[in-house]
Amino acid sequence: MKKQEAQKILRAFVLKDYDQLGALGVRAYGNQGRAWSGTACITNLDDSKGQCNPRLAFNSCDVQDIGCPECLKALVALATGEKILSLA
Ligand SMILES: [Zn+2]
Repeated sequence: MKKQEAQKILRAFVLKDYDQLGALGVRAYGNQGRAWSGTACITNLDDSKGQCNPRLAFNSCDVQDIGCPECLKALVALATGEKILSLA
């Protein structure tokens, strides 16, 4: 994923602009099952596949459920060019 694309996705996520996330081609999957909300991974992220591997996940879900801390950290890192340790 390119930096510019990551910035667009991050902006749409922060603004909860789910239409825009869809338009950007963002796909989500829930690696903890449907009983969990707000923990879904972002399949588009190349750099987080070590920890969040879409091939191991079967639960496709809505972009509204995106919230995996590892995926968000990776997205911020891609968008800003900096690694962050926490989103708190
Ligand atoms: Zn993830």
